[in-house]
Amino acid sequence: MDALATPPANEPTPPRSGPACTACGETAIVHWLRRLTGDELDEVRRVEQERREQALLLADPQLPPPVFPPLPTGEGFTRTVYSCGPHAITMDAAALVHASSCTAPNDADLPGCDCTPEPPPEARIEPAAAPLPDHWVTGGA
Ligand SMILES: [Zn+2]
Ligand SMILES: [Zn+2]
Repeated sequence: MDALATPPANEPTPPRSGPACTACGETAIVHWLRRLTGDELDEVRRVEQERREQALLLADPQLPPPVFPPLPTGEGFTRTVYSCGPHAITMDAAALVHASSCTAPNDADLPGCDCTPEPPPEARIEPAAAPLPDHWVTGGA
């Protein structure tokens, strides 16, 4: 079943579609990422633990039991922070992953935030393109 399917007709139409600004609740137009807080990570681990327990219950007893990797540690997990235009942090800051403790969007720190975002991933170094032959260059010989 498609989770994005339109709701049945007898349900009231939601006043807005899409996420709301974390600070004021207006319709969000921008977003950025931050790491999970301890509570959020606990929740991720709890859900994963339940999924594994269910998988063990449903496993075929005639086969070796399923083996799971260690529970997630938060590495690679992010939460999306939504914001309206007036509460948006700078575009440069929004391109980075923020700390779990980041309180943005927060009026006191706008257009910045109160954490030190993670550095961007290493930029890919593209090999320099070989020069085109002269007769492929507009205005060339
Ligand atoms: Zn807002
Ligand atoms: Zn931040």
